[in-house]
Amino acid sequence: MNCQCADVVTPGLIDLFEARQRLVEAATPLHAVESVTLQQAAGRVLAKPVVAPLDMPGVDNSAMDGYALRLADYRAATDGEGLPVLQRVPAGAGVMLLPQGGCARIFTGAPVPLGADIVVPQERVTLDQSGHIHIDGELTIGANIRCQGEETRAGTPLLPEGKYLDAAAIALLASHGVDKVTVQRRIRVALLSTGDELIAPGTARSPGQVYDSNRAMLKVLLTQAQCDVVDLGVIADSPQPLHQAFEQAHAVADVVICTGGVSVGEEDHVRPVIEQRGGLIFHGVAIKPGKPFAFGYLGSELTSATPLIALPGNPVASLVGWQLLALPFIHTLQGRHLAALQTYPVTAGFARRGPQGRRELLRVTLDWSGETPVAHLAGGQGSHMLSAASQADGYLLIEPATAVVEGNTYRYYPINQFAA
Ligand code: AMP
Ligand code: MG
Repeated sequence: MNCQCADVVTPGLIDLFEARQRLVEAATPLHAVESVTLQQAAGRVLAKPVVAPLDMPGVDNSAMDGYALRLADYRAATDGEGLPVLQRVPAGAGVMLLPQGGCARIFTGAPVPLGADIVVPQERVTLDQSGHIHIDGELTIGANIRCQGEETRAGTPLLPEGKYLDAAAIALLASHGVDKVTVQRRIRVALLSTGDELIAPGTARSPGQVYDSNRAMLKVLLTQAQCDVVDLGVIADSPQPLHQAFEQAHAVADVVICTGGVSVGEEDHVRPVIEQRGGLIFHGVAIKPGKPFAFGYLGSELTSATPLIALPGNPVASLVGWQLLALPFIHTLQGRHLAALQTYPVTAGFARRGPQGRRELLRVTLDWSGETPVAHLAGGQGSHMLSAASQADGYLLIEPATAVVEGNTYRYYPINQFAA
């Protein structure tokens, strides 16, 4: 457990990092795979390692626009006479033989003619009236030649199982001529909001009603995380509709994510319904915002059960719960190598009372105008206030019962690390 502050954490709440660890440990990768094209593979996770099918580069080729020659020929040329240009090798040409006693005009990416052992960049070459080249500066054998197989040898590992296929990985595969890969299949996530007050954006709001922003947000986050969303809509605050929704979710999805109704008020029915339809693994995390987070499952047997993550209703709490807890769970199900949380110390540019009973994640912007970044509050810190969350660059993590002192440093978590 990372928290050094067990005595100041509200009893019954589990530590944030312990909750994260338990979620990751409980996530069993799906191990269902499919073969897809490279474009379909973007953002997915490799289910099988890829072995390089060929050497990269495929042939010795030029790293510069310039002249390819045999250094001994240049040195042997009569004093001051230089070497005649007897060949022209553009990119896409086949492998040629360098004419004896001459050099080749060559372009970046073109195969170095057999017999040449150096490419001299054109900036260092003067071409005289009789078509001979004269070179300035030091000459080293092998310079500006990209050797066959220097990056990859055919038959050696190219990408490991579990690799997240970002644009660079897709390009690497394409550069080796690969056009199909085996990836983990997409995860189906049933998504539902709970709350009698919730209405859809685009409809008129009566007093007391609240637009359902969590489902809009989570659909985006789940789609970015390469999940297929089964949208079960808004479920009323009573046990029966929740039972029905969870039954449907269990039947159609690999994972269920719901928001709201997971505190301990009498209008909060999520916890008892989870307990009746499956089991609760933990409920309540020592974090602000994000305390009413529950992790459980639907189904009578753990082996065939559907994991369920109940996020808080307050929108910022829901966002934080997704980023720090639900996302690593989903990534593990996807068979993705889990990256450590990125964090670094940042100076607070403000003072503030410390949180009580749990860690607090303050939504902050970073001012980079000085030598080191300084954090400022991104706006109101209420867990219902999406404005600050939408402005923030990251979170400043404040330990329980620790006041924020201007000029002191605190752990900062950039938000962009949670994008997909
Ligand atoms: P709850 O966790 O259900 O007690 O809800 C806590 C707060 O979050 C209340 O103010 C709710 O109106 C609000 N809330 C719950 N669900 C959503 C949602 N899907 N979108 C926006 N706000 C919500
Ligand atoms: Mg509610």
